[in-house]
Amino acid sequence: MEFKQHIKEVENWPKEGISFKDITSLMQNGPVYKQSVDALVEYARSKGADVIAGPEARGFVVGCPAAYAMEIGFVPVRKEGKLPRETVRVEYGLEYGKDVLTMHEDAIKPGQRVVILDDLLATGGTIEATIQMIEKLGGTVAGIGFLIELDGLGGREKLEGYDVLSLIRYE
Ligand code: AMP
Repeated sequence: MEFKQHIKEVENWPKEGISFKDITSLMQNGPVYKQSVDALVEYARSKGADVIAGPEARGFVVGCPAAYAMEIGFVPVRKEGKLPRETVRVEYGLEYGKDVLTMHEDAIKPGQRVVILDDLLATGGTIEATIQMIEKLGGTVAGIGFLIELDGLGGREKLEGYDVLSLIRYE
């Protein structure tokens, strides 16, 4: 299946110089959306995932249906102030300033194999912060799967040492 043709590229959005990869067109096509999630499920299965984690909001788009299909749990990774109980938190750098991601403290049990799923790998900052929290809780990051990977922004390099799969690549 060639998934790339189902992604819409929007130039100079949300700001000048960015080529935004819009996955909503892929999601609108039921069979294609299902096949892309199925490919990530196959990957997560091959990594022996006990649980799926995904950063808000587009990590939920691929992570939740994958966890459902595998009949395993899903752990939401959220911006600060959204989770109601005790959390672990990591600050990470953005192009301008910084942001904070959080996970519930009891979301991962020590020794669990976690597969992280997200829509897109760009600089890898979001996933690096997610990895730090999973490891702080004693989990093992067994693999990281994306619909899309953008080359040349350093994401792959930042995730060196981890197993990374992407279904679509842009040079
Ligand atoms: P990063 O932490 O830089 O790897 O990217 C974080 C998130 O920003 C990704 O998971 C996407 O949801 C979003 N993102 C970054 N660049 C793009 C892009 N060119 N098109 C669509 N989404 C993007």
